[in-house]
Amino acid sequence: MAIEIKAPRGTNDVLPGESRQWQYIEDAARRVSDRFGYREIRFPTFESTELFERGVGDTTDVVQKEMYTFRDKGDRSITLRPEGTASAVRVCLEHGLFGGLLPLKAYYIISAFRYEKPQAGRFREFHQFGAELYGTASPQADREVIELAWSFLRELGLNEIGLNINSIGCPECRKNYHAALKEYFSSRSDELCETCRGRLDRNPMRILDCKSPICKEIAAGAPLILDYLCDDCKEHFETLKASLTDAGISFNVDPHIVRGLDYYTRTVFEFTDPVSGLALAGGGRYDGLVTELDGKMQVCGLGFAAGLERLVNVMRERNLFPEEKRAGVYLAAMGKNAVPAAHRLASELRSKDLRAETDLMDRSLKAQMKYADKIGARFVIVIGDNEVESGNVTVKDMAGGEPFATTLTEAADAIAARL
Ligand code: AMP
Repeated sequence: MAIEIKAPRGTNDVLPGESRQWQYIEDAARRVSDRFGYREIRFPTFESTELFERGVGDTTDVVQKEMYTFRDKGDRSITLRPEGTASAVRVCLEHGLFGGLLPLKAYYIISAFRYEKPQAGRFREFHQFGAELYGTASPQADREVIELAWSFLRELGLNEIGLNINSIGCPECRKNYHAALKEYFSSRSDELCETCRGRLDRNPMRILDCKSPICKEIAAGAPLILDYLCDDCKEHFETLKASLTDAGISFNVDPHIVRGLDYYTRTVFEFTDPVSGLALAGGGRYDGLVTELDGKMQVCGLGFAAGLERLVNVMRERNLFPEEKRAGVYLAAMGKNAVPAAHRLASELRSKDLRAETDLMDRSLKAQMKYADKIGARFVIVIGDNEVESGNVTVKDMAGGEPFATTLTEAADAIAARL
């Protein structure tokens, strides 16, 4: 009996007919990043577990419940990256980039792994486009990162995505806030989930983004960080809001956003699809992260990540992917001498950087024409033994243009001139 092997739960395959949509989004990410002066970085799919425990935070849901962690054959604890920020900071520290030109701007397009309950828009392997900016505390940097994410969404035609922002202050304002949270949650500690009971002393802010329904309900009435901001954090937030308004970027202040990672400071934000309610991108400032990972250096940082599966989905629902234009050439070949001639012309067209295909299935002429139509060929040339003998061919324009006559030797140049 054949063994049926399926893709692991919570993963997705991208089929040949779908990959163009992914590339469309990735191309937009690269184009928009380049306009803002961000350059790509790449880093490994797996890192030392410790990087994420420290860089994401050991009281977060991601670290406590969702990481793919295993021992490798050398008995090291390894984790598949659950996000990109901790790795990006590791790259900068390891290669001394914080000692170079500042601000430092980088982007990445990565797969990420979280052991979550799969559901609509939530997978165990997913993909992110993320951007990071290091070396500045200026609220104008927060505006730039938000503007980059906003421009990317607009580039994709997603003009109605809501932006929610909040400030979660600095360690100074958190002292009073943590005390207030502790007092609030202590009165209902019996009802909290077990993980959150453990968080009450160590990091009560984490209770605010626990996914358990009862914790969520209790958290809804908790004190709000915005009421506890110090003067500097308040001013930072006010300047950011004014700058966003100046940029024509509309936003809501949502005092309930705290974000799932530990080292966020001040600005946090999320772009949400108003139809599905799903977050398409999220980010914020994390001025404490570099110190947390390096032990000495103090470098401000901020960034965002957008979920590509969710974007593909939302864009499909709204028909935002452009129709694929007819492209390339199909050479229909019939006859003993025609087949090698068609292959020769195909090679010549490819050497001119054009897409060219010919029959590999010994199909009838009619079936070859059907195939040419299905693959969306722009030009079709029928080559029979007569054409090989006379050297003359007719090129059909499948996009509705007039057919034209040429010779087998001149066909490649004639087609290249028309594309
Ligand atoms: P986060 O840093 O967790 O806010 O993730 C940034 C973005 O990645 C989110 O706004 C989502 O669009 C996407 N994302 C996060 N987790 C998942 C997941 N499990 N499956 C699919 N997309 C996700």
